[in-house]
Amino acid sequence: MKQDHITVIGAGTMGNGIAHVCAKSGYTVCLVDISEDFVKKGLATIAGNLGREVKKEKISQADADAALARIHAGTDLAVAAESFLVVEAATENKTIKLELFRKLAAICAPEAVLASNTSSISITEIASATGRPGQVIGMHFMNPVPMMKLVEVIRGHDTSEATLQLVLDVCTRLEKTPLASEDYPGFVANRILMPMINEAVQTLMEGVATREAIDGIMKLGMAHPMGPLTLADFIGLDVCLAILNVLHEGLGDPKYRPCPLLKKMVAAGHLGRKSGRGFYDYSA
Ligand code: NAD
Repeated sequence: MKQDHITVIGAGTMGNGIAHVCAKSGYTVCLVDISEDFVKKGLATIAGNLGREVKKEKISQADADAALARIHAGTDLAVAAESFLVVEAATENKTIKLELFRKLAAICAPEAVLASNTSSISITEIASATGRPGQVIGMHFMNPVPMMKLVEVIRGHDTSEATLQLVLDVCTRLEKTPLASEDYPGFVANRILMPMINEAVQTLMEGVATREAIDGIMKLGMAHPMGPLTLADFIGLDVCLAILNVLHEGLGDPKYRPCPLLKKMVAAGHLGRKSGRGFYDYSA
C-alpha cells in the first residue's frame, strides 16, 4: 500500500472530477471503470478541464501535464491494492455499490480506507458489506468537482475517528472544505435541498407562479446562484426523484413525498439538461 496512491472508481461525471482534483494535488490516481470506452471518455474530460484551467491561467501547462501523467486509468479493480484510499463514484445503484465494496474489502490493504461518493445510499449499509466498517466513510463531492469547495463527509454508524481524520486531511490537501454529517437519509445537503426543489415543483404545479418567476424569486430574493427548477434540470429530475424517494422511505414523513408533477415528468422522460428537456427546453 502506498500513502500517495488513491483509487477512484467510476470515470463518469463525478469520478473524473475527483480523479482530476486528486492528481492536481499530487496524488497518484488509479481511475477504474467497467469499459475502455468509459475510461477514455473520462480521461478526455479531465484533459479538457485541465486545459481550460491552463487557458484561464489557474495552473501552468507543466502542472497540468504532470497531473494528467499521474492518472493511470483502466478496467482492473485489482489496482486498488496499492491505494491507501479508494473513492467510489460508480453509478448510484445499491447492488452495484455493495458488490464493489465486497470486492474492495478483499483487494485492498487491511488498513486502507474505503469511501463512497453516494448521494443517498446509507454508508452504514455499504460498510456492512466490507467486514471493516470502521474504515468506510462517505465523501460526498459536489458537481462540478474541480470548482465546488464542499465535501460532505459522512460518518457511518461504526466509522472510526482515525478514518474520519484521514479523510478530513485528504480533503484539506485537495483544497476542499470538508463538513461532517451523520449517516441519515439524504445526509445534510440533499435533506435540505431536495424538499426545496420539490416545493418549487409543487408551486409550479399549483399555478402559483411561472417557472421563470419561481426561479427568479429564489435567485433574486435569496441570492441563490440559480433557481430551484433550473437546478433540478441540472441535477437530473430522475436523480431528484430517487433522492426524494430515499428521504420519504427512510424518514417516513409525508413532507418528503415527491410532487406528482416531478413523477410525471420523469415518467415522460423529461429529465432535464441530459435529456434535452425538463422544466426548460435545452434542445437548441
Ligand atoms: P455517471 O453515470 O456519470 O458515472 C458513473 C460511472 O460509474 C459510469 O462511467 C459507469 O460506467 C461506472 N460504473 C458503473 N458500475 C461500475 C463498476 N462496477 N465498476 C467501475 N465503474 C462502474 O454518474 P455520476 O453522476 O458520476 O455519479 C456517480 C456517483 O456520484 C453516484 O453515487 C452519485 O449519486 C454521486 N453523486 C453525483 C452527483 C452529480 O451531480 N452527478 C453529485 C454528487 C454525488
